[in-house]
This record gives sequence, C-alpha cells and structure tokens, in this order.
Amino acid sequence: MASRGEPPTERTRVRRLPERGAYDRPTIDAILDEALICHLGWVTDEGTPRVIPTIHARVGDTLYVHGSAASSTLRALRDGREVCLTATILDGLVLARSTFHSSMNYRSVMVYGRPRVVADRDEQLLASRAIADHVLPGRGDEARPPTDRELAQTLILALAISEASAKIRTGPPKDDGADLDLPVWAGVIPLRTVAGEPEPSPDLPPGLAPPRFSRPV
Ligand SMILES: Cc1cc2nc3c(=O)[nH]c(=O)nc-3n(C[C@H](O)[C@H](O)[C@H](O)COP(=O)(O)OP(=O)(O)OC[C@H]3O[C@@H](n4cnc5c(N)ncnc54)[C@H](O)[C@@H]3O)c2cc1C
Repeated sequence: MASRGEPPTERTRVRRLPERGAYDRPTIDAILDEALICHLGWVTDEGTPRVIPTIHARVGDTLYVHGSAASSTLRALRDGREVCLTATILDGLVLARSTFHSSMNYRSVMVYGRPRVVADRDEQLLASRAIADHVLPGRGDEARPPTDRELAQTLILALAISEASAKIRTGPPKDDGADLDLPVWAGVIPLRTVAGEPEPSPDLPPGLAPPRFSRPV
C-alpha cells in the first residue's frame, strides 16, 4: 500500500515502514479529532526533554491546548519554542506467533510547530468551547463558559497543523513462514475506548439527565 499524500517537510516523512504513512489532512484530522488526548513534547531551557499528556481540540487548521497559567510547560511555551505533539488511537493488540512480530494496530499523528499564545478573548472562548466539545460533543452548549477571571487563570496555546504526519497499522500479524505451524494462537484482539455508566455527582439536583455519548469510539 502506498502512503497517502506527500510529507510537508523531510522530517515528517515516515521512514520506518513508509507504506504506513499518511499526510492528507482528512486522515490527520480524523485521528486528531478522535484521539481524546495528546502528548506534547518540548525541550526545557536546561536541555531536558519533557512530554506532558494533555487534552487538545482541533478547529480547522489549528490545534488548541490549554491549562493553568501556572503550568510550567505552558509558560515555557509562551516564547514560541518548538514542540512535537502526538495523538494516538489504539485499535488492537496484534498477537503474532513470535514476540518479535507482535505489534499493535493503531492510528497516530505527529505535529511539529511553534505554538502561539491565544490572547484574543473571542479566540479564547472558541478554544475553550472546542476543547469542551472535543471531550464530549455538545458539551460546549451545556456547560457554563469561562468567566474573564477564569480565562485570566488559563493559558491557551494554538498550534498550526502545517507540518504533520500520520501513521496507521491495520490487519493481522505478519508471522515468519517458519512459525506458521507453531501451536500458538495468532490474531488481533480489537481494543476500543468505551464510555461506562454515567456516575452522577453526589451534589447533583434531581431531574437532570446525563449527556448523550455521541463520540465515535
Ligand atoms: C501504539 C503504538 C505502538 C508502537 N509500538 C512500537 C514499538 O514497540 N516499537 C517501535 O519501534 N515502534 C513502535 N511504534 C511505531 C513508532 O511510533 C515509530 O513510528 C517507529 O518506531 C519508527 O520510529 P522512527 O524514529 O524510526 O521514525 P521515522 O520513520 O524515522 O520518523 C520520521 C517521521 O515520520 C513521522 N512518524 C514516525 N512515526 C510516526 C507515528 N507513529 N505517527 C505519526 N507520524 C510518525 C514523524 O513525522 C517523524 O518525524 C508504535 C506506534 C504506536 C502508535
């Protein structure tokens, strides 16, 4: 299978198993939208690599991440230093007859870039709503939007999706021919994220229905 699209830059070219690479925006966007969280990697002033798991949301060509204005990661990234953001969806355990060929089925995205601080109030509200809707579609309509005071306590960064790649593995294990007669089960155990039964907050007034879970997981 040939990779889909062309890498926007040389460093985004998937070199290891390039046939699993994809660079077209519909593929990249679908993974970013479905992955509940991402990991944001950067290098501190001391040269230490750091990767933080965090929530993200995509609006068009922009990825938003947010957090406390006191977050050392977000504060460090105010200067527009380079980041690498990854998002991963795990689709299955690929059990080969050998440990060597055992793998996982996945869809993942890597985005390189230099985030900018979102200072405009309207864009801050847009990003906050997008993050609420990313976590649970429709939640942005239900939950109270942030006040100016809450926005002042929040740092929102925007990362352009201009240098990104996707990598996708599907299908059964690829065992060595010599292993095919081994008495070992081989195949795929599909995995997916499933929402459990809603647990109402202990202080919830009666008569309020839980939100509908419409996320495609
Ligand atoms: C759930 C999961 C489990 C994995 N387990 C393993 C494992 O156990 N061992 C292992 O070696 N690899 C594993 N991979 C694949 C791994 O992410 C790398 O793709 C692979 O190790 C090749 O790394 P590399 O540095 O040689 O990449 P290269 O191909 O040299 O990377 C070049 C460019 O390709 C793109 N790229 C590379 N990997 C990805 C990716 N995963 N998603 C999006 N873009 C990408 C980036 O833009 C990167 O800059 C796993 C991936 C996932 C999502």
